[in-house]
Amino acid sequence: MAKVLITSGPTREPIDPVRFIANASSGRMGQALAEEALRLGHEVTVVAGPQEIPLPQKAQIIPVTTALEMLEATRNLHPQTDILIGAAAVSDYRPKESHQNKRARNDSTWSLEMVANPDILKTLGEFKNEQQLHVGFALETPNTDEEGIERAQSKLQKKNLDWIVLNRASAIGSTHDEFWLISKEGEVLELGELSKTELAAELWKVIPV
Ligand code: C5P
Repeated sequence: MAKVLITSGPTREPIDPVRFIANASSGRMGQALAEEALRLGHEVTVVAGPQEIPLPQKAQIIPVTTALEMLEATRNLHPQTDILIGAAAVSDYRPKESHQNKRARNDSTWSLEMVANPDILKTLGEFKNEQQLHVGFALETPNTDEEGIERAQSKLQKKNLDWIVLNRASAIGSTHDEFWLISKEGEVLELGELSKTELAAELWKVIPV
């Protein structure tokens, strides 16, 4: 039995008390990965952004809102983790300032200044030890499959991952997509079109536990 940590869902970056920047992630991938890990008998913790798809009750769920909160929660849990799977669609940017009061409407334009959020998987990759295994996702819109594979391989290296799942950006919010599994050893498994539940089963087959 391994200790599994999964990030799931979108993050929400506040603009003011009622507005935020987010994305269309449903959290379905995180749910499928957690379900399969539990089925295999692992101890599962999910650090989840505000997602619409419910997570399994047998998992320990740590709810977070922003990317910075997700980073803090995962950094705390990472030393006790055997397998980390980064399935969250972390918001790459956040508003530089979050206004305390709701900004009133007027007829002028409104420009928001954004700053980059930290890359959670890359940060945790810097702390990864020999026993830990890290998996990430690459959602790409490449012109060719080869280009998608190359981009995923470069992310795998940059984030110090063991495996990366490549799929299309259209997968966000959907139930099915075309998937590839790519390892740091250079394996490229072309899985074709699968549901996210089927993908979770295929991914857990290649994780050595
Ligand atoms: O670089 P890109 O956003 O395409 O990488 C996607 C992978 O990195 C996913 O596994 C995602 O969960 C993770 N990620 C992260 N922190 C970010 C952005 C992405 O952990 N700020």
